[in-house]
Amino acid sequence: MSEEWRPRHWPPHWPDVTDPAVLAAIAAVPRHLFVPPQYRDQAYEDIPLPIGHGQTISQPYIVALMTQALCLRPDSRVLEIGTGSGYQAAVLAEITPHVWSVETIPELAEAARQRLHGLGYQVAVHVGDGRLGLPEHAPYDAIIVTAAAPDVPPALVAQLGPRGRLVIPVGEGIWDQVLWLIERHGDRLSKQHLADVRFVPLVATDSRPQAEDEATAQIRMQLERLFAHH
Ligand code: SAH
Repeated sequence: MSEEWRPRHWPPHWPDVTDPAVLAAIAAVPRHLFVPPQYRDQAYEDIPLPIGHGQTISQPYIVALMTQALCLRPDSRVLEIGTGSGYQAAVLAEITPHVWSVETIPELAEAARQRLHGLGYQVAVHVGDGRLGLPEHAPYDAIIVTAAAPDVPPALVAQLGPRGRLVIPVGEGIWDQVLWLIERHGDRLSKQHLADVRFVPLVATDSRPQAEDEATAQIRMQLERLFAHH
């Protein structure tokens, strides 16, 4: 691929993003091909941009911070919720070939699928309600949610492997969202505050009643305890 698009200063210096694999992934993905043509000249500014359907491509710094928190290895299995433009999925796919992504807006999913495959990224894009995860390919070593949920969906934690990591923005409003890292240590869960953030909402698109299995019900209770004082 032509290197002409890559600005000299890209990625910029982020004091808290130090993982060489993450920085190399950000350097490798041509972000200008993930934004609408009228925003192309701003693609290498460290800002979110509109992608249509009321959605946005995330700020590169937040993409880098979230990716770093997943601690990916070249063989990690990763699930993304909220494909959007496909940019975050491409960054993940620079690190591991095992990436699944769920998007609820069919037009965005189709555009992202074509864009990703056109660039050679083998990301499996599914249309659905990401609050339910993607059970058919679980367990995942890492799950990344790129829309803000009012609560952590227990189904996502249930689909993590025994040492899995979930990175998710939680909060109802635009102004009080917190980016959390939830780690699974066998049967135990822990949470760690990563940053204060602003994401578009994770919307409930599948209103069918979901039967909850025993393991997921256990995780729902654990999550309630984990966030009780927050
Ligand atoms: N990761 C994207 C940014 C996504 S913006 C990128 O790199 O461009 C958040 C996305 O989440 C939007 O595309 C929105 O349609 C999607 N979304 C919102 N609720 C969802 C849900 N319940 N399931 C799956 N995707 C959802």
